[in-house]
Amino acid sequence: MVFDQTEILQAFAEDEFFPVFQPLVELRTGQVTGFEILARWNSPRHGAIPPDRFVPVLERDGLIDQLSHTLMQKAFTHPAISKGSFQLAINISPQQMLRDAFPQRIAAIAEQTCFPLHRLTIEITESALLDDLDRARTVARELKALRCKLALDDFGTGYSSLKHLHTLPFDEIKVDRSFVSSLLEKRESRKIIAAMLGLGQSLGLSTVAEGVETQEQANMLLRLGCDHGQGWLFGSPAPITEIDNCLKIVWHADSPTLPVGPTAASLMNLDALPAERLALLQAIYDGAPVGLCFLDRKMRYVSLNRRLAEINGVSIEGHLGKTVPEVIPQVFPSVENYIRRALQGEAINGVEVERMRYDTGAPQSLVLSYHPARDEAGEILGVSVAIMDISDGKRTEAALRESEARYRHMMQLSPHVPWVLDAKGEVAEASARWEQYTGQPLEEALGTGWLKMLHPEDIAHTLEAIQTSLATGQSIDIEYRVHTPRGQWLWMRSRGAPRFGPSGKIMCIYGVVEEVHGHKNATEELESVQAALRTALDSAPLGMVIVDGQDCTVRMMNQAARTIFGAAVNPGMTLAEYTRMAVTSLDGRRIRPEDFPITRSILRGEVVNAMQVLLHRADGVQLWLSISSKPIYAEDGELIGGLSVIRNLESDRARCHHPPDSPASTLQ
Ligand code: C2E
Ligand code: CA
Ligand code: CA
Repeated sequence: MVFDQTEILQAFAEDEFFPVFQPLVELRTGQVTGFEILARWNSPRHGAIPPDRFVPVLERDGLIDQLSHTLMQKAFTHPAISKGSFQLAINISPQQMLRDAFPQRIAAIAEQTCFPLHRLTIEITESALLDDLDRARTVARELKALRCKLALDDFGTGYSSLKHLHTLPFDEIKVDRSFVSSLLEKRESRKIIAAMLGLGQSLGLSTVAEGVETQEQANMLLRLGCDHGQGWLFGSPAPITEIDNCLKIVWHADSPTLPVGPTAASLMNLDALPAERLALLQAIYDGAPVGLCFLDRKMRYVSLNRRLAEINGVSIEGHLGKTVPEVIPQVFPSVENYIRRALQGEAINGVEVERMRYDTGAPQSLVLSYHPARDEAGEILGVSVAIMDISDGKRTEAALRESEARYRHMMQLSPHVPWVLDAKGEVAEASARWEQYTGQPLEEALGTGWLKMLHPEDIAHTLEAIQTSLATGQSIDIEYRVHTPRGQWLWMRSRGAPRFGPSGKIMCIYGVVEEVHGHKNATEELESVQAALRTALDSAPLGMVIVDGQDCTVRMMNQAARTIFGAAVNPGMTLAEYTRMAVTSLDGRRIRPEDFPITRSILRGEVVNAMQVLLHRADGVQLWLSISSKPIYAEDGELIGGLSVIRNLESDRARCHHPPDSPASTLQ
């Protein structure tokens, strides 16, 4: 079957190309969360022609953009799609992605059809990127700026996957169906998929398995930690009129049929995640009298030991793959903040939590610790949590030693030198890495010994910073020189923050010291600081919006702010556009643009604390918010902008019409 260009142009003219939609299912919940758009051509002359046949012809004839345009136009304007909030994925050819103005074309069609681009995932194959990685990077960035998501299609079939995963801002990887089809028969396929999923997870990417045809495959994928599945089991590509029916489908996993020995389930799961240090975890898990678990970056239980299952009153299998709020909903609000902080790199020890014992209802005191776990490159993989039950005074020495050994090990894996100062300001603990930098054995560095390695001129301000922190609770951020074994002075940066006990007294200061990389040029440094800042802001559970005071436009907003405002706020919009948002006060009156906290901060330099308002989004969602805002000043005192911090007072999705009883205070 050979088609010439006239035939294809005629097919466009006769409207013979159309999209079909294949559901994507979240394995954990069984719900349909989106669809992949696949092209179809019904030719009156040749019948139904598969995309593998006509896509290469359209690519050859420069008509592939027209195909994408047709598919998007049809999809985006259909009520079944425009009224929904699910994700849509579209396949984009290599040449399309790399051609000039591709992001602009996407933006244009989204604008014409009023389709919010955060609902669009662009699927590209690895070959698309090989030709011109620099160009691909630029385009990818532009697409991200439009809020599109990026998926790496047919993952595992190309050959430079790792490189691409690192250099391009993917949100998702789609594991090719060739691996899925042999998942149950071949141990190697299982290992490869496990490694791919582990890799995706450790890079913070969502994972999709393609070509899922059987219940057994889906069960196994769920157990291996895969996020989404796509394939005939959940639904074949269907016409647009079937979308509403597809959305009703709920897939149910079978209950696990694994052999259940004391740690069988947890080890099985660990096996799936080679990145997470099997040996270390296994050794400590076995027989520890302390409840231990490892949470991934989405707060899901990746592994846990028996003791933790006992403490929570839920089986090991009942934890695996589920999130903390799902397994322990009552306790979660009191620990969420610690988990989030640990996910941002902070090690937190000795948090006491009181709760009711699940079986007898008696009060139970738990001591919890949260430590970020990092890979060799320092990236945070998740959090390891240790839990001790101290209610009946059975806090054994052994238990303490066990968890301490674990922390010490974790600390030594860190690329930084973590340290702990006690309430007197003396070093109580530090990583053995200090010795690598200074040659000073760790035992000698404890207490005040470490000061011997500091440059004499740097000692006074260092001690002063520590004393100030202990006296006022301020954080520490200082630089000093240390003496290296080769007789040179090395600049180090040390940062830390005090931890407060229940009475508000400072118990200790936790921090890290790292080498200051003098060789980095200024732009690189700035970029990495910006990237780090953005990541940190994006993982914050509070919405943040920064408005530039000079041109009064929204400069930056974090992930939480995007979630709260939905499509109503975008970077680049003006303050006037921003404050057009429908927001009412407690007594139901509409907040005028000049009374928005951010306007008050930018135009009048005011600090606004925790103003409670009700947001009415265009999509009908109403949210109670607590908004704080403050001006941002340059070093010379000039007012250059404003920062708004927005807290969503409703922990879950908003349908509520009253402000929650006791709104937590907003960050200042
Ligand atoms: P793809 O992106 O990997 O799309 C998934 C393909 O797997 C689809 O084939 C789908 O029908 C098929 N599939 C879905 N579930 C199963 C399953 O459980 N088992 C098996 N064996 N197959 C399953 P389709 O629709 O024939 O598309 C083939 C390829 O054509 C797509 O592969 C994609 O690369 C390309 N394609 C489709 N639409 C477009 C488009 O609009 N633009 C571009 N550039 N390429 C497209
Ligand atoms: Ca695809
Ligand atoms: Ca694919």
